[in-house]
Amino acid sequence: MNLSRFLLRSFSFRCPHCGVGRLTHRLYGFNHHCEHCGYAYLPDDGDFWGGVVICYALAGIIGIGAGGLLVSFADVSVQALIYAATLTTVAAVLALFPLSKSVYTYLLYYTRGHEEEYRPPADFHPGK
Ligand SMILES: [Zn+2]
Repeated sequence: MNLSRFLLRSFSFRCPHCGVGRLTHRLYGFNHHCEHCGYAYLPDDGDFWGGVVICYALAGIIGIGAGGLLVSFADVSVQALIYAATLTTVAAVLALFPLSKSVYTYLLYYTRGHEEEYRPPADFHPGK
């Protein structure tokens, strides 16, 4: 799978296993498993942090880029620059967090494969 296809699939917020179930149930709510096939999205306790790291890294890059653009095109004080970069970084974190978790879920899916421990439990019934 190439990078563009990987990103398009992860941007869909659909289950990486079946492509039907949704990853999210509200803007920032993340389902534990697929309601259609039962696939566990982030089965380990530390899996939450992968999406956070991706989100903070991208938001930091965006915040620094916004500060760089502001300095390049406007004569602003250091205090205004700090406020603008901070606000841009916070806005980027809020905007990118669901997408970062989706990308990380897909990354886990393709790196872990279809190992037995990540398959739906035997007593799983779709829709319950
Ligand atoms: Zn599924």
